[in-house]
Amino acid sequence: MAIASVNPATGETIEEFTEIGEPEIEARIARSDEVFRAHRRDSYDVRAKAMRRAADLLDAEKGEVAAMMTAEMGKTLAAAGAEVAKCARLCRFYADRAAGFLADEPADADAVGARKAYVRYEPLGPVLAVMPWNFPLWQAMRFAAPALMAGNTGLLKHASNVPRTALYLGDLFTRAGFPEGAFQTLLIGSKLVERVLSDPRVVAATLTGSEGAGRSIAAIAGRELKKTVLELGGSDPFLVLPSADIEAAAKTATTARTQNNGQSCIAAKRFIVHTDVYDTFAAAFTANMAALQVGDPTAAGTDVGPLAQEQGVRDVTEQVDDARARGARILCGGERPAGPGWYYPPTVVAEITPDMRMYREEVFGPVAGLYRVADLDQAIALANATPFGLGANAWTDDEDEQRRCAAELAAGAVFVNGMVTSHPELPFGGIKTSGYGRELAHSGIREFCNAKTVWVGGG
Ligand code: NAP
Repeated sequence: MAIASVNPATGETIEEFTEIGEPEIEARIARSDEVFRAHRRDSYDVRAKAMRRAADLLDAEKGEVAAMMTAEMGKTLAAAGAEVAKCARLCRFYADRAAGFLADEPADADAVGARKAYVRYEPLGPVLAVMPWNFPLWQAMRFAAPALMAGNTGLLKHASNVPRTALYLGDLFTRAGFPEGAFQTLLIGSKLVERVLSDPRVVAATLTGSEGAGRSIAAIAGRELKKTVLELGGSDPFLVLPSADIEAAAKTATTARTQNNGQSCIAAKRFIVHTDVYDTFAAAFTANMAALQVGDPTAAGTDVGPLAQEQGVRDVTEQVDDARARGARILCGGERPAGPGWYYPPTVVAEITPDMRMYREEVFGPVAGLYRVADLDQAIALANATPFGLGANAWTDDEDEQRRCAAELAAGAVFVNGMVTSHPELPFGGIKTSGYGRELAHSGIREFCNAKTVWVGGG
């Protein structure tokens, strides 16, 4: 795939980039390794000062960074601005909290016959981060902020369609005061990931992306015996039960499905509704989806912009057409509009059956699958009948049902009467084919650390 910035609202190429070659890859890995040796010794205070400066730069440059992301991948300007602000918040969160998250942890010295015993957290070295285009700043920042605060160095291979955001990130941390080379962008295609990950100086990798990319990176890392964190796809269920506030559920469902133009790993994708409230929910949800403004992502009133890539709009079109051909009912949307840009309208598809692609595949666009169930047992069984296990939403005011949903939904996160969202304060990650490992909170910063046991005996 060519490395290029292409405007999804028009299909026009903004700028093309040349992939870097072997001498440059070698130089950047060498630099990352060399800088690590000094950076790992810097105090948390020194790192925090630079991380806060990165947050300040993001705040100051919010408007232009948001416009850059909107031009490259089509999210609305409002969503892009919110993403920049969230990244600044994450930088400050880890600037404030890293020292505490990675403080020495005392162990029971008496029990192990020591005078002193504890766990200390040490950085590992240069880590490769392979990142997707859908939240081009946030996904990369979820790795970069904790990794740099822990004392690791980072090599970013970003998605080929967001090179401008990738280059911005490559400069940001140096401008903020981190040593030059502590965080670098490698403008390379996915074929060169193996070259970088098999380099002995690169100690670990994190990927946010598709299942296929996850399997490939895990295979290389397995052969090389290197640690990985994988944040992959999702097909999150959204359960609606009779005791829920149906109007509130339908409103949140609309946002949960169409945020980021429908291209979010934790978007709710399968709406599983109790038969007693199915008709009410379906009517309200369909009305909300149909009322969304689709169009120019830079325009103030736009709710849903174009999909980021032409292939994306083709995939979604084929998934909906497949469902329609096999007997599903399209309650709204379902037709790709004529004209330039990679637009697909908010769509609700009902009466989905297991033979349809939508039943088993992730739909990466503003298309909701609606399912009717007889009771909570059936709802949970259907929610779990997927290879994915990223997030799950459950709407119920009944405390027993809330407890059952929390315990029985097979996912990395369950949000009750709300929408699955990432927060700096909460661990984020999946199970099953949604990946493994955690980002954010204390769990995220420890993923790329050596939890070193120290045992001290004697007098
Ligand atoms: P993708 O094709 O897997 O691309 C993601 C990144 O992986 C890009 O940098 C891509 O590079 C690279 N890549 C692709 N194939 C590779 C391979 N075989 N080996 C090494 N690197 C490879 O994913 P996408 O379709 O653009 O992104 C959407 C997917 O990401 C969805 O499934 C979504 O759910 C998932 N996602 C998950 C999370 C999470 O936190 N769990 C968050 C956001 C998105 P090129 O661009 O050069 O191909």
